[in-house]
Amino acid sequence: TSSRSASSNQPASLIELPAVKGGAVAIHSVSKRYGHQQVLDAVSLTVPPGSVTVIIGPSGSGKSTLLRSINHLERVDSGFIAIDGELIGYRQQGNSLHELKEKDILQRRVEVGMVFQHFNLFPHLTVLQNLIEAPIALRGLSRAEAEAQARLLLKRVGLADKADAWPRQLSGGQQQRVAIARALALRPKVLLFDEPTSALDPELVQEVLDVIKELARSGTTLLIVTHEIGFAREVADTVVFMEQGRIVESGSPEQVLRQPQQQRTREFLARVL
Ligand code: ADP
Ligand code: MG
Repeated sequence: TSSRSASSNQPASLIELPAVKGGAVAIHSVSKRYGHQQVLDAVSLTVPPGSVTVIIGPSGSGKSTLLRSINHLERVDSGFIAIDGELIGYRQQGNSLHELKEKDILQRRVEVGMVFQHFNLFPHLTVLQNLIEAPIALRGLSRAEAEAQARLLLKRVGLADKADAWPRQLSGGQQQRVAIARALALRPKVLLFDEPTSALDPELVQEVLDVIKELARSGTTLLIVTHEIGFAREVADTVVFMEQGRIVESGSPEQVLRQPQQQRTREFLARVL
């Protein structure tokens, strides 16, 4: 692509900026390599506010790298990503772009919640404490505000009675629901899920999907990587099929899951369905 390298410290081309505005998440021609491997190859995607986008695709196709790039856990080689019209990793000053310092990146990262396959709760904190530390530190909530919010969120994920439990006392499904509540506690503009049910025993998958479905219905902007095709069909506004670092096909669940246009999408669906 023609984008300049984001790591080169050169001001990026401002001509490209309008294209990254106008979505809760706007991804414009993002590329990334690891050594000789092109892991993301000119990926562009807009996630409108309040919408649900589900990304499917084979292992190694770049799905996690894309999510991690949105959260600035990975730095892309070229292209741009904006959250709610604000470029990640850059500050615009007059006509030029400056790379953000680590401290500012941490501040911006608060706008993007992320839920991983492995729930990563703090084992030495109770469920309630897991939900109140970050909002106090990063959002400036008082302890009382953070605790009131935490109790509401626990109720929302069906765990009101687990506030004082330790993570190890909970099932995997319950821990993942706490992880979702913890992500929500920072009031992110968008919530990213990377295979949120892949590490769970089969009988615990549905309770987590039900919580995500409720978020979808409530208008939270969601970007979800999952192999749960039935769930994708039910909740997605847009389904994106990725392979080898590229978006091969995207559209409504009806289009992509029932009438895929691309042979590679059909082959993938035949394998997973
Ligand atoms: P997916 O989530 O679709 O399975 P990933 O984004 O995790 O795919 O990985 C895409 C490709 O990038 C894979 O081939 C993977 O091996 C490679 N990759 C991911 N992270 C790294 C890394 N830190 N260093 C080198 N290669 C990596
Ligand atoms: Mg992955």
